[in-house]
Amino acid sequence: EAAEKAAATGADGVGLLRTEHLMLTSGIHPGKFIADGNEDELIDTIADNVQIVADAFYPKPVWYRTLDAPTDEFITLEGGENEPREHNPMLGWRGIRRELDQPEILKCEFRAIKKLHEKGYTNIGIMIPLSQSPEELKQAKALCSEVGFEPHKDVDFGMMVEIPAAAIMIDEYIKVGIDFVSLGTNDLTQYTLAVDRNNEFVAKHYTEEHPAVMKLIERTIRKCAEAGVTCSICGQAGSVPHIVEKLVGYGITSVSSNTDAIADVRKTVARAEQKIILDAARKRLE
Ligand code: PEP
Ligand code: MG
Repeated sequence: EAAEKAAATGADGVGLLRTEHLMLTSGIHPGKFIADGNEDELIDTIADNVQIVADAFYPKPVWYRTLDAPTDEFITLEGGENEPREHNPMLGWRGIRRELDQPEILKCEFRAIKKLHEKGYTNIGIMIPLSQSPEELKQAKALCSEVGFEPHKDVDFGMMVEIPAAAIMIDEYIKVGIDFVSLGTNDLTQYTLAVDRNNEFVAKHYTEEHPAVMKLIERTIRKCAEAGVTCSICGQAGSVPHIVEKLVGYGITSVSSNTDAIADVRKTVARAEQKIILDAARKRLE
């Protein structure tokens, strides 16, 4: 349903496909599929659901983000009873750090995307969430190769920048090799400002426009532009026109917005680009 509505806006692709939503829809914990010996069923559940989105957008790119559900969300699923009770799930066992601890789930995800590529959906890329060290990217790529799906060669392989460490070390990630980067500003904001995004008592301190967050965003965009790496954004900030205007100025390659913000963001990007062109032309004339 959401895919059709999004495609109807004329969007140029999907900048963030959240796999955990597919799992929450299935109602079954991914670990349960594996424990019950139903790996093929897990692969099919992922592939069938992702195919709906890939179909709606084909041949435009769809970035599939590997699982990133905090333990307090996984706990609600059938088979989720054994999820650890964490004091702060936002700082806990989620994203790529968890998937590297449970590589069998990550491999099923890679197999699902491989299966779709073999069916002709070569528009699907893979995006790794919540990385804090280039070593994690290396390990994720190695697991993808292990299932016979070669990052960069067979599939576009990218990562989210959501932890300040990743923004600061972006050069090192680029050396490891990435096809694209997407700024996850929801998490980047919470980790830069030490504000739990699920804690109402500190919500008033949460803003993507804090100068420290904006500096990390600008730095990431500029470093990617220098290296010729595609840089996008998929956090909520990508749906806020006056922030997007700044990102265009920094040189962002693309912007992923909420479906209902796409028309406004498109106009903002066009205006910001026209201004850049006009300023450059004026300078030449002078
Ligand atoms: C983000 O952190 O900005 C993001 C897009 O990921 P999520 O909101 O799913 O954590
Ligand atoms: Mg995030």
